[in-house]
Amino acid sequence: MDFAYDARTEEMRKKLQSFMDEHVYPAEAVADEQRTELESPWQTPPVVDELKKKARRYGLWNLFLPDRTYGAGLTNLQYAPLAEILGRSPRLAPTVVNCAAPDTGNMEVLTEFGNAEQRRTWLEPLLSGEIRSGFAMTEPEVASSDATNIETRIRRDGDDYVISGRKWYISGAMNPDCKIFIVMGKTDPDAPDIRRQQSMVLVPRDTPGLEVRRAMRVYGYDDHYHGGHAEIVFDGVRVPRSNLIGEEGGGFAIAQARLGPGRIHHCMRLIGMAERAVELMCLRANGRSAFGRQLAEQGQVREWIADARVQIEQLRLLVLKTAWLMDTVGNKGAHTEIQAIKIATPRAVVGILDRAVQLHGAGGVSQDFPLAELWAAARTLQLADGPDEVHQRSLARRELKRHAAGEG
Ligand SMILES: Cc1cc2nc3c(=O)[nH]c(=O)nc-3n(C[C@H](O)[C@H](O)[C@H](O)COP(=O)(O)OP(=O)(O)OC[C@H]3O[C@@H](n4cnc5c(N)ncnc54)[C@H](O)[C@@H]3O)c2cc1C
Repeated sequence: MDFAYDARTEEMRKKLQSFMDEHVYPAEAVADEQRTELESPWQTPPVVDELKKKARRYGLWNLFLPDRTYGAGLTNLQYAPLAEILGRSPRLAPTVVNCAAPDTGNMEVLTEFGNAEQRRTWLEPLLSGEIRSGFAMTEPEVASSDATNIETRIRRDGDDYVISGRKWYISGAMNPDCKIFIVMGKTDPDAPDIRRQQSMVLVPRDTPGLEVRRAMRVYGYDDHYHGGHAEIVFDGVRVPRSNLIGEEGGGFAIAQARLGPGRIHHCMRLIGMAERAVELMCLRANGRSAFGRQLAEQGQVREWIADARVQIEQLRLLVLKTAWLMDTVGNKGAHTEIQAIKIATPRAVVGILDRAVQLHGAGGVSQDFPLAELWAAARTLQLADGPDEVHQRSLARRELKRHAAGEG
């Protein structure tokens, strides 16, 4: 077993780290400043577009996509440590190297399931970072962690599909650069196989009947850097049948395929967030005194820091093992491990961030440190892309079955 990163990963890590130090971290404050001068808070600050051009020139572009024709051709194991570095600046870094959700998952769907015309019209501008995209599955009226509950209707009408339904928490949709949605709905609600009732269609933002109604908040944050999270109403939205992705009835399977890489990318970035939290904790503990002692000398504080280091090392090993499995036995073969990291990582990182907030006192909950916002982002990942309990249920079911079959 070799625990070292390979030569290409090391080279890319160095390149990305110096890009972050030189360009990304200094741009965080610039982007905040520029936002105050934009016409709408949802627009992209100009510094982000400048950084995108630079990142592309440096060869730091589409790192998430293993497909060599369209992406950087890195394996999951090679991308994992890079995504971790990106996670240290979640507001800017993933976007400037074109590795931000939900675009990454949408590009993967179009690469794998899109036809030539769909790739030309939507995948190419997404790959070049000209436009952004949204993925519209969750609905306010039904428990959407069970995708078979989805009620949005996609009805055939001649050569068109007509879509009606209401979605919410559609990430990225408030940004006017978000030009295309992948929408999940039911084409055949009466199909006997409840996993063959759903389909996915491409819906351009400017289609009549599509209304981006309001911005949803996350613990009060609008998540403007991620293009917000919108409620969207589809009222008789008409698109040509050629906008179907894959086959009718194939939507559920595409959704499952989309979520594997998305989940591990979230976990990789979360580890980067936890590293940033530990760094801030150490700086604060070394630089502040209370009751005649440095905070760093308090046993309690040392325990927090030590526990955080232990947890990060554990999480990183499990994430790297999962990435290696995805590369070697495929996403299906890595199913248990993908669920394990999706349960373990947000939970542990929320705890680390919570203690980092505590150590910073009032500063921890303020806008002067990134900790409160990072905490909110990590906490939502216990819900998004499948709540913890849903993963636990499915993981336990497989474990019980294995032992019942005498394979334990
Ligand atoms: C910040 C953020 C961004 C998001 N971005 C997107 C996006 O871009 N596109 C999109 O389509 N959706 C998005 N979502 C929605 C997210 O994917 C859903 O919230 C998630 O799938 C859960 O669905 P739900 O909210 O309907 O919860 P429900 O399905 O109603 O579940 C609520 C709770 O019930 C419990 N529960 C459910 N099932 C089980 C079970 N089997 N066993 C035990 N307990 C259970 C869990 O505690 C769960 O948290 C986003 C959400 C957030 C918070």
